[in-house]
Amino acid sequence: MEEKKITYQFKTEVKQFMNLIINSLYSNKEIFLRELISNASDAIDRLRFKSQTDPEISGDDTAYKIKVTPDKKNRSLMISDNGIGMTHDEVVENIGTIAKSGTAAFMEALEKSKNQNMLAPELIGQFGVGFYSSFIVADKVTLITRTAGSDSGVKWESSGDGTYTIETADKASRGTDVILHLKAVEKEEQDFTEEWTIRQIVKKHSDFVNYPVVMDVEREAAAKDDAAGQILDKDGKPIEGPKEKTVQEETLNSMKAIWAKDKKDVTDQDYNDFYSHISHDWNPPLEHIHLKMEGVTEYNALLYIPSKAPFDLFFPQRRHGIQLYCRRVFIMDDCKELIPEYLRFIKGVVDAPDLNLNISREILQQDALVRNIRKNLVKKILDTLEAMDSEKFEKFFNEFGSVLKEGLHTDWANKEKISKLARFKTTRSADKWVSLDDYVKNMPPDQSDIYYITGENITSIINSPHLEVLKDKGYEVLLMTDPVDEFAIHSLNEYEGKKFKSAEKGDLNIQKVDETKKESYAPLFEKIKSCLKDKVKEVRPSSHLKDSPSCLSGEASDASAYMEKLLKAAGQPIPDNKRILELNINHPVLEKIQDIFKKNKDDEALPDYSNLLLDLAVIGEGGKVENPSHFSKTIGELMAKAIG
Ligand code: ADP
Repeated sequence: MEEKKITYQFKTEVKQFMNLIINSLYSNKEIFLRELISNASDAIDRLRFKSQTDPEISGDDTAYKIKVTPDKKNRSLMISDNGIGMTHDEVVENIGTIAKSGTAAFMEALEKSKNQNMLAPELIGQFGVGFYSSFIVADKVTLITRTAGSDSGVKWESSGDGTYTIETADKASRGTDVILHLKAVEKEEQDFTEEWTIRQIVKKHSDFVNYPVVMDVEREAAAKDDAAGQILDKDGKPIEGPKEKTVQEETLNSMKAIWAKDKKDVTDQDYNDFYSHISHDWNPPLEHIHLKMEGVTEYNALLYIPSKAPFDLFFPQRRHGIQLYCRRVFIMDDCKELIPEYLRFIKGVVDAPDLNLNISREILQQDALVRNIRKNLVKKILDTLEAMDSEKFEKFFNEFGSVLKEGLHTDWANKEKISKLARFKTTRSADKWVSLDDYVKNMPPDQSDIYYITGENITSIINSPHLEVLKDKGYEVLLMTDPVDEFAIHSLNEYEGKKFKSAEKGDLNIQKVDETKKESYAPLFEKIKSCLKDKVKEVRPSSHLKDSPSCLSGEASDASAYMEKLLKAAGQPIPDNKRILELNINHPVLEKIQDIFKKNKDDEALPDYSNLLLDLAVIGEGGKVENPSHFSKTIGELMAKAIG
């Protein structure tokens, strides 16, 4: 094969990303080592996992380790692993483009955060910044890798200045070497070729890494006398001879699997360090759950509830945070089977000694042991949430409440528990969460149902005309603004024997509509319906309104206005339900229209007024009127008349 060195351009996003991390992490340079060690450890994990089904792949080289080699003279630092390595194509794909890995996700999040004024350094804490963090400390990075099963290697090199080169290269054994040509040390800065500095960083950031992180250390020992083994003075005591230098490989990390330890032997600091190790989240977790289960379903688990929601909580392709181990052997990352979707924010480790090592994702789902563990974990997590004090729980709910509520719809077995944990804003408490227990406790004696209204935001629904009668009666209404609420409420049906009732659909059955009055309006309502043609299904006296003249509602079984909007946004077919126009027969404007109608059933103003009543109802729920210019013209004319 012809030796060729090809120069490539970094994609624009990569350049941006590199500049960004170099600037953001200026005061936190040392994390580059954590990132490279973590990549090395992942590469060994992957090799070990593959070799369970294909032992050939690892061959004899199974003394897995990650080696850090500083070179003071040349100011370089090498991080080597005997993991899975990369093929030429993998190098092209993984290093230098942004198509894969956390980098793309990061850039996406950054783009979003611009709207929220979130700073890049704050955001970067939630990500593994990965391989590119090398350029924080290095002005040239060389990566030489040889994939398992291949006999030649690939060399990638870049000065981080917009281009990189790739060529074939010799490499004696399987794995990857990353060689950093370090920038000059500025005053009072850490020197990453210093033994002590490296020790400290590894201990701090990579202590829990599953494989030995080793370094050759030079030690001085007294030179031995060949004959006697020691040099002795005239009294027979050993004397300090000339020093001899020996080099020993030393393991720098403890590799302790803290999930396997007794709780009493683990400090809070250990728990927090391990959390940042597995999550890449720099914020300390809100809570940890450490379980050692014995008996039929035996496992250890160490789970964390983060304190901050990651930016991608609602992305379908989001990775789950549970790593699965069997007797401290890594089996897989991102183990969805162990945790339901609605708890996808939980991070941690599960170690099940009785698990079949060759288990594949496909059969994991059907595995009785895995199913039992999952059931158990869910129970423990929900119990932990229930036991939290209100301040902590509120913090939790602000971050993850809308995800947890998905469980009302998807986890029927735990519906009751989740409904106890669910919190809502209400007409009485628009900025503080209220539990359903509190809601029920605060119900006036004559209120028998739990009322709710759904919509896009609190401001639009809290002032909805649909709530007028309920507010007048002193009944609290749940304000549901999470898309998940719509689905959740349908699965809930009732709480503590109280039915959930929509405040915007169906008859509220609260105030009796005066039957004779209703009858007297029937001909006018028929006229209004005929003026509106098929824009509405029906025109009827309202059971919701007190001060407004009109609103739109539906049958109790219809989809709500918000649900229709959500379906539309999701590209789903919308049920072709026409709305019902409800009119307030106690409102003076209806009396006036009734007068006109009584004088002349075909009065020219009637179609206009009918449309206005409909437009007012649409505006009342924050919708858009069909013909805004006609609407404002008519209102203008009416105002002129009224003022005149
Ligand atoms: P991330 O680790 O978040 O995926 P990186 O930029 O650190 O992002 O690495 C990109 C990809 O390059 C990794 O996902 C992995 O496939 C590959 N890679 C990086 N370092 C190594 C290594 N030491 N051995 C094998 N593959 C590696």
